[in-house]
Amino acid sequence: LFITFEGIDGSGKSTQAQLLDVALRAEGVETILTREPGGSPGAEEIRTLVLQGDPDRWSAETEILLFTAARRDHLERTILPALAAGKTVICDRFADSTRMYQGMSRGDLRALVDELHRLMIGREPDLTLLIDMDPEQGLHRAKARQTVEERFEDFGPALQAQMRQGFLALAEEFPQRIHVIDGNRTQDAVAADILRIVKAAPV
Ligand code: C5P
Repeated sequence: LFITFEGIDGSGKSTQAQLLDVALRAEGVETILTREPGGSPGAEEIRTLVLQGDPDRWSAETEILLFTAARRDHLERTILPALAAGKTVICDRFADSTRMYQGMSRGDLRALVDELHRLMIGREPDLTLLIDMDPEQGLHRAKARQTVEERFEDFGPALQAQMRQGFLALAEEFPQRIHVIDGNRTQDAVAADILRIVKAAPV
């Protein structure tokens, strides 16, 4: 089973991905917990190239190519081998993040993102947990733990709100796969909801 977590910065995705990993392992499920951009040695190097340094270093188009290259490496070296070994893959962000961030935030490049995805990735998760979060709240949380690497988190409230709407629209576009979870609740309540959805998923 290939499970991804999506949502705006500060939505609690990474925490929930970890909690799900622990919960599934406790039940004897073999899992790997991975993330994007990154998740394989080569893709982690690309992550550094994209997320560190001057935000204007790459054009929007070059950035899409870099994210796609990182995803391809991650898929080849980490995700597909784990799935082939019968493991459950839990991934913090995947192609939906590129549809949103590179597809929307620097102009309308969604068609380009989709075309590259079709050519070079061609794989969707079995299940995507979209953690929906009040944009102001998300921004507040993201800023509280901002690291030098996360240049993208210079997003203002307007862009954060636009991203939230974009993710919700994506959930309507892929209703079979994307489940929207209300993230404005306690960590435990969110985690319990997620575990219930994952257990109901067709294996
Ligand atoms: O998920 P995480 O916080 O590690 O992502 C790091 C940063 O990269 C975030 O600020 C996110 O907005 C950005 N990002 C992006 N495009 C992606 C994935 C992540 O701009 N496809």
